[in-house]
Amino acid sequence: MAPPADSSHEDVAHTLFDRFLQAKSCEQTLGAFQDLSKCLDLQPEPEGQLRFYQKLKSRLSYWKAKAVWSKLDKKAGHAVYKQGKECAKTRCLVVGAGPCGLRTAIELAFLGAKVIVVEKRKAFSRNNVLHLWPFSIQDLRALGAKKYHGRFCTGTLDHVSIRQLQLILLKTALLLGVEVFVGIKFKEPVPPPVATKNQGRGWTATLQPRIPHLDQFQFDVLISAGGSKFVPEGFRRKELRGKLAIGITANFVNRHTAEEVKVAEISGVARIYNQKFFKDLLKQTGIDLENIVYYKDDTHYFVMTAKKQSLLKMGVIVQDLPDTEHLLSSDNVNAEALFKYAQDAANFSTRYQLPQMDFALNHHQRPDVDMFDFTCMYRAENAALVRERNGARLLIGLVGDCLVEPFWPLGTGVARGFLAAYDAAWMVKKWASGAPPLEVLAERESIYQHLSQTTPDNTNKNIAQYSIDPASRYPNINFQSIKPSQVRHLYDTGHTERDHGKAETNAKRSMFSRQDTISVYEELLSWCKKQTAGYPGVAVTDLTHSWQSGLALCALIHRFRPHLIDFNSLDQNAAVPNNQLAFDLAQHELGILPILTATEMSQVSEPDRLTLVTYLSQFYEAFKDEPLLPSPPPVYGEPDGKRPTLSSAKSAILFLNKLQKTLSLKRNTKGLDDLESETKRKKSGESPRESLPRWSSESTEALSTGHRNLTRTMQGAAAANQ
Ligand code: FAD
Repeated sequence: MAPPADSSHEDVAHTLFDRFLQAKSCEQTLGAFQDLSKCLDLQPEPEGQLRFYQKLKSRLSYWKAKAVWSKLDKKAGHAVYKQGKECAKTRCLVVGAGPCGLRTAIELAFLGAKVIVVEKRKAFSRNNVLHLWPFSIQDLRALGAKKYHGRFCTGTLDHVSIRQLQLILLKTALLLGVEVFVGIKFKEPVPPPVATKNQGRGWTATLQPRIPHLDQFQFDVLISAGGSKFVPEGFRRKELRGKLAIGITANFVNRHTAEEVKVAEISGVARIYNQKFFKDLLKQTGIDLENIVYYKDDTHYFVMTAKKQSLLKMGVIVQDLPDTEHLLSSDNVNAEALFKYAQDAANFSTRYQLPQMDFALNHHQRPDVDMFDFTCMYRAENAALVRERNGARLLIGLVGDCLVEPFWPLGTGVARGFLAAYDAAWMVKKWASGAPPLEVLAERESIYQHLSQTTPDNTNKNIAQYSIDPASRYPNINFQSIKPSQVRHLYDTGHTERDHGKAETNAKRSMFSRQDTISVYEELLSWCKKQTAGYPGVAVTDLTHSWQSGLALCALIHRFRPHLIDFNSLDQNAAVPNNQLAFDLAQHELGILPILTATEMSQVSEPDRLTLVTYLSQFYEAFKDEPLLPSPPPVYGEPDGKRPTLSSAKSAILFLNKLQKTLSLKRNTKGLDDLESETKRKKSGESPRESLPRWSSESTEALSTGHRNLTRTMQGAAAANQ
C-alpha cells in the first residue's frame, strides 16, 4: 500500500530525493536511498521486471524526480528490452560495484532481471580519472549522469573520476531496483545440494560476512566484475607481456580557483611525438618519462609512464631488482622521493601554473600517489562458461578489467569495459530466451573476438543508436564465427570435468605437435620474407620484432598496392605512424581488422607471435590470387631476380584448413553430445542471425575460422605444454 500523500509527507520524500541526488559518497547514497524507500513504503521486489522502479515512479511525482524518470523511461522503452519482459525469470548476482559491474547490473535491470550486486569495499574512494570515449559519454548522459553530477563532461571534457562514475551508476542502478550490498566479499558459487529433490532450485553464493537474506538468494547468472585481480575459477588467462612499463598516478587538491581553471589539460603526450618536451623535462628535473596525461576533475590528476633508470637515479626505487613485483614493493620504494618525483613532473608539465600542489588524500588518508606495474597485462581466454550441477545450470560471464585488463594511459578501461557489459547483457538475454547453452556460449565467444580490436574509429559511428545488440556497435559482426562444437569445453558438467579436460589437452597436443606449429610459422615467414625482400629498412627474419617499425607491413601492402603508399616517404623511426598507416590501409582497403593499436605494436618489447601469425595470414589470403605487378618499383626489386613462389604459403593455408576440420573432432562426452543435439534441435526452424562475412567465399570464411582457432588452440597447447 502506498502511504497517504499528504503535503508534509511529500515534502519529506522530496527532501530525501534531493539528498539522494546530491549524495557524495557510497554510504550517503545508500543511506539516502534506504530512507527514501522507507518513506515511500517500498520494499525490494522478489522479481525484477522493473516493478520496483514502476512503484517508485508512481509514488514520487517530484519535478526533479520526473526529470530522471524521463531519461530512464526513454532508455527502458528501447525495443531490445521488450518492456522488461525479456529476463522476467532471470536472477543475477553481480560481483563488484566498479564501473563495469554497475553498468552491467543496469542493463540486466532494464531487461527485467532480478539483480543483486555485492561489493567487498565499503567506500568508493578512487580519485583517479578515467578517459571516456564519445559513446560512453552519450551513454552516461542518457542514464541521467548530469542530474547527479552537474559538471559531468561539460563542453569538451571527456573524463570523469572513478568515484564519480561509480556514484552515477550506483544511483541509476538503485532507482531501477538493483539491490547493492557493500562490505560483502563473494567467495564462490554453490550448487543446489541434491539433484532429484531440488530440481528447479538455483545456485547460491558463499559470501563473507554471511547475511541471511543474501545467503538464500538463488541465481542462474553470475557476472564477475571484480576487477583485474578477481577471476572466478574455471577461466584461464592469457598474459600479454610488454616491455617494462612503470605507471605513476598522482592526485592534487583542486580548489577550482580561476588560476586553476586556466591551466590547460594534457590529454596525452607521448615521447615519440614531443621529444623536446621530454628532453627538457629530463634536463631540468632528472625525470625521464615515456608519456604523461593530465586531467582536471574533482582533483588535478596525472598519470605517467616513468623510466626505471630515472626512478633509480632519483631514489624513488631503492634497489634494482630483476622481478617487477619486488622492484615496486613498498619496502623497495621511497615514498617521499616518489611524491617529489610526481610533484616535479606535474609542475613541469603544467609550466608551474598550478598555484598550490597539495596532494589529495586516498582512503588511507595518505597522499594519493601510486606506482603500478604495466609490464604484464592479462586477458581471459573466454568470456563466459556454463556450469551444471545437480540439474541446475549457472551461466558465468566476465566483464571489465576481469575480462581484459586495460593499459591505463591509453584509456581503454571504461570504453571496452562498457562494451563488454552490453555484450554480457546481450548474452543473458539470449540465455533467458531458452537458447541452448552451447549456442549462447558460441555467440558470446564470437562477439568477444571483437573486443580487443575496438577503437572509436572502427566501431559504428552512430553512437546514439548503441544498444546491447552488438550489431548496433560492431560493424560487420558475425555472430556465428565460433561454432557450438568449438565451445564444448566451456560447458562444465562436473562429472566429465577431469576426463573432458584430459581429452581436450590430448586433442590439442596431437593436433598441434611442435612440428606442425613450427612448419606453419616457417611457411608464413618464408612468404613474408619474399614479398618484402629488397625494401629499404625492412629485414623480415621473424614473426615478432621484424614488424615493429611498421615498415615491413607497409612494404607488404606496397608490394601489391603500390598506389596506396609512398614507401620512400616513410621514416624508419616513426614506428607508431607507420603501423597506424598500415593498420588503417589494411582495414579500409583490404577489410583486415587491426589486431592491436599502433602504439601497442610499436612499444611492447615483443609483439605476440600468434597474434601476428593470425594477422599476416589474412594478408596472404587477400593477396594470394593476385599477380605481382609486372615490374615492381625498381629500388625494391628481388635481389635474386626471381618472383616468389606461392607454393610454400599454400601448404600453410592447406594446413590451416586442415585445422578447421580437425577442430570439429567429435569428443565422446555424452552430456556434451546431448547438448549439441539440443542446440541443433532448437535451431531448426529458427533463422540464424548472421551478418555479412567479411570475405565472400566459403573457403575464406573457413580459413578465417581456422586462423582464429589456430591462435586459440595453440595458446591452449602452449599452456598445456608448460
Ligand atoms: P574495478 O573498477 O576494479 O572494480 C572491481 C570491483 O570489484 C572493486 O570495487 C572491488 O572491490 C570489487 N571486488 C573484487 N573482488 C571482489 C569480491 N570477491 N567480492 C566482492 N567485490 C569484489 N584506469 C585508468 O584509466 N586510469 C587510472 O588512473 C586508473 N587507476 C586505477 C586505480 C586503481 C587502484 C584501480 C583498481 C584501477 C584503476 N584503473 C584506472 C582501472 C579502472 O578503474 C578500470 O578500468 C575501470 O574502473 C573498470 O573496472 P571494473 O569495473 O572492471 O573493475
